[in-house]
Order: sequence, then structure tokens, then C-alpha cells
Amino acid sequence: MRRTVIAGNWKMYKDVLESTQLVEDIRKQESSIPSNVTAIVCPPFTSLAILGNMLKGSTIKLGAQNMSEHDEGAYTGEVSWKMLKSANTEYVILGHSERRQYFKETNELINLKVKKALDNGLKPIVCVGERLNEREQGITDPIVKTQVKGVLAGLKSQDIERTIIAYEPVWAIGTGKTATPQQAQDVHKMIRKLVAQLYDWSVADRLVIQYGGSVKPENARELLSQPDIDGALVGGASLKADGFLQVIHAGKN
Ligand code: PEP
Repeated sequence: MRRTVIAGNWKMYKDVLESTQLVEDIRKQESSIPSNVTAIVCPPFTSLAILGNMLKGSTIKLGAQNMSEHDEGAYTGEVSWKMLKSANTEYVILGHSERRQYFKETNELINLKVKKALDNGLKPIVCVGERLNEREQGITDPIVKTQVKGVLAGLKSQDIERTIIAYEPVWAIGTGKTATPQQAQDVHKMIRKLVAQLYDWSVADRLVIQYGGSVKPENARELLSQPDIDGALVGGASLKADGFLQVIHAGKN
């Protein structure tokens, strides 16, 4: 039975004080988090260290939103795996569509980052998803397949076990438009089948595939009840404790 993994992507919201307040508010209801759900918060870099301290001994996990493909060096503005780990970060979102769109990240670069994260004990949450014009042209499956193959290239079975894939149709991110549960389920099923072809069914059956794109308390339960949807990557609705906790509760078995 796969765990349900709900991660909150705070994007470029929440300064240090606001971050600590939000985590304090979530923690007030920490004991209500269903036992089958892993909850992760992914704040901006500036809040990682303080939240890493606050979350020691908590069931709530810490994730970053990006990471350098390099170990260290003269890369002004970049943050390495070692820096993330020193802040008690366990997960890292890689290849988010906003990074692909605004920072020109390619599947090749994302693959380097995924490998760097895995080689150094961080669990990547790797994002894939088609744009609106690609869905309209009926090429969702080949686009997503190319992304999945590209970001996972060269990974071994044991790497896949520590990797989460987040299917995030770009047209549904921050737009209020959600893929229907059936549309999302169809792509998740296709991704799992592809991973079974690339590895085998035992690897594919254990792979956690999150859905992301305007997930909120009102639509979370139906999305999460689909057989191949194992969690959610939540943007806007994760910025308030109540909304995030309601999505977490929707993941109860
Ligand atoms: C995201 O940031 O990954 C996301 C899915 O955002 P939203 O929930 O706001 O659409």
C-alpha cells in the first residue's frame, strides 16, 4: 500500500516570521494528521534552517523548492544539497514548471539535479506536466513520457523508490482550473505503466505519484481517491494552515 504524500509548495511567499507562524499553526493540529499520510512543507530557502529546527521530532517533513546540480563552487545565488541537508531538509522539489518556464530548466538539467539529490540522501519530488496547447493538440502523453524518461534517465530501481513524481498540468497551476479526477488518473496510470516498462511492476507499484494543480479542500478527496493518485503537491492552498490540513485530511484512507 503506497503512502499518501501531501507537500505544500509555498513558492516565493512567507518570510521567516510568517513561515514560523504557519508551521506553528499546522503543528497545533499535527496529531490529527492521518497515519497513512506524510505531510511536507516546502518553504523558501531563507526559512529552511529555522523550520528544520522547529520540526525536529515532528512527523511533518521539510522540503526545499530547488537545488543546484553542483556540489559547491562559484555559483552565485545557488544552494547546494549539503546546505539543504545541514538545515534538516529531507525532500526537494525539482523541475517545477515555474522553474522550467522562467529559469529555462531542461529535462537534462533536472536529471542532473535529481541524481545529485539522490546521491546525497535527499528525496526528489520531480515535476512533469503538459502545457495547455499541448493538451489541446492531444499530445499530453508523449510530452509527459518524454519528461519522465528525461528526468529519470540513468536512475536505478533503488533510486526510484526514493523518488516522487508530481504530475502537474501547467494549465492547472495557480489558475483555479483543476484537471478532472479522470483526466489526472489517466495520466498517472500512463506514468506508472511507463515506469513499469522502464524498470518493472514492483518498482512502479511502489512509486508515489502526486497530482498538482489548484488542489484545494473542495476537490482533494475526489482526486486522492483515484487509484493512481498517491498525494498532492499543493501551492496556494498550502499557504494557510486550515486549507493545508483539510487537504491532508482528505488523504485519509
Ligand atoms: C504548485 O505550486 O505546484 C501548484 C500546484 O500550485 P497551485 O496549487 O497553486 O496550483
